[in-house]
Amino acid sequence: MKTVIVGAGPTGLLLAGDLAAAGVDVTVLERRGAESNLTRAFGVHARTLEHLDARGLAEDLVETGAQVQRLRLFERVRVNLGVLPSRFPFLLITPQYNVERLLEERAVKAGARLLRGVEVTGVRQDAGGVEVTTGDGTFAADYVVGADGVRSVVRSALGVPFPGRAVLRSIMLADVRLTDAPADTLAVNASAEGFAFVAPFGDGWYRIFAWDRRTDLPDDAPLTLDEVREVTRKALGTDFGMHEARWMSRFHSDERQAPQYRVGRAFLAGDAAHVHSPAGGQGMNTGLQDAANLGWKLAATAAGWAPDGLLDSYQDERHPVGSLVLRSSGGLIRLAMLQSRAARAGRDLLGGALLHVPTVMRKAAGTVSGIGIDYPHAPRQEDVTVASGQRLYELLRSGRHVLLGPAEVPPGYADRLVAAAHDHWVLVRPDGHTAWTGTERDAPVALRRHLGEPR
Ligand SMILES: Cc1cc2nc3c(=O)[nH]c(=O)nc-3n(C[C@H](O)[C@H](O)[C@H](O)COP(=O)(O)OP(=O)(O)OC[C@H]3O[C@@H](n4cnc5c(N)ncnc54)[C@H](O)[C@@H]3O)c2cc1C
Repeated sequence: MKTVIVGAGPTGLLLAGDLAAAGVDVTVLERRGAESNLTRAFGVHARTLEHLDARGLAEDLVETGAQVQRLRLFERVRVNLGVLPSRFPFLLITPQYNVERLLEERAVKAGARLLRGVEVTGVRQDAGGVEVTTGDGTFAADYVVGADGVRSVVRSALGVPFPGRAVLRSIMLADVRLTDAPADTLAVNASAEGFAFVAPFGDGWYRIFAWDRRTDLPDDAPLTLDEVREVTRKALGTDFGMHEARWMSRFHSDERQAPQYRVGRAFLAGDAAHVHSPAGGQGMNTGLQDAANLGWKLAATAAGWAPDGLLDSYQDERHPVGSLVLRSSGGLIRLAMLQSRAARAGRDLLGGALLHVPTVMRKAAGTVSGIGIDYPHAPRQEDVTVASGQRLYELLRSGRHVLLGPAEVPPGYADRLVAAAHDHWVLVRPDGHTAWTGTERDAPVALRRHLGEPR
């Protein structure tokens, strides 16, 4: 089975690695010639780190960044990620290019073909396959995945709309040096005039996001460092001795979601399927989790054992998560934009008080980190240590389902399952969600249902 992925951003690269590791013939078409250091995302959340752990990449990534346990949202509103039931109870601050580098190395090593400098211009499909058109010719495949970002050509070619609206215009971005480093790894606050956010690259450079309520300019309007300094001072009380901007830009933030993530043999994932404000730092994380959901389903289809409806479950499971993320990041950005003193004081007081209630804190930490995201028939499976001393997420590095319970793989399933002796019987999907829990007696029926007939 041949698959073409359009776009080598984080979503496309994770998917390419999963498919190639499962032996699927995969080609990634990327319009950009080379990697850029103009990173967008900075935050890698706990659930994404668990997915990277299941691919043997989490430890290397954690080494590249700083860990934040108390995520400050506003003046007195902090979410304590330390309460998360995860090996990674923190937000990792590391530039997006570190995530992309690790994913690209893994994908290429596993055998994915990454073709840079190739721009996709169209996609056609019929019952037998897809044809992906580029400036240099066409690529035939069985499936195509549009991981080509917010202006997705694949989405347009499929005729899938992208309804929604702009939430914020004229957000200023600047990469600067600071004379006085902020005390917190992430400095963030919102005032009546706007908000500012400061994140470290880890090499002496800092990324500033700043928004001034009075400014409403198009993305291409010029930007000066003085403007960035002023908004930062108003929101955070200091500009940290900001100097030497190496890059500055304005951007606008939209909230949009494609109603369909699948059309026949074509899928949409990542920013091609959903986009929202950077508040909460969930865009890249959600895209990576889309890829982790879709990868094993396409691989099961290629291997010929996918149960009926498995590919459709991608839409059923991931579309509601995309909607949830739009709502939660939209809520955060609207709270940050509150103008009146009374409303802001109420937000800080109520938010601070609510987050003192342990169940509210756990819920907030679970939502923002992705740890609290379950699918209706497949809750997230927490990491456990099995009888051999190995961890479940290490066993998931096989890319297969893991059956906890028996020491040996039941006959006929060795091509899609690993087993590990454990005191509970649990069938865990390759994306770390639970397909089934039960007893030894029910296991054969569950295996047929989730993994097809034994061979
Ligand atoms: C200012 C800002 C801050 C952000 N901060 C965070 C954060 O802290 N945490 C977080 O999780 N997210 C954050 N995000 C969002 C995050 O950057 C995106 O969600 C993420 O990059 C999406 O990954 P993707 O792989 O789906 O798409 P992209 O990263 O956009 O990758 C798409 C790729 O497709 C390629 N492509 C596009 N069209 C074609 C074509 N026709 N042919 C071939 N190739 C094509 C592009 O060149 C690109 O490489 C932020 C975004 C912005 C703008």
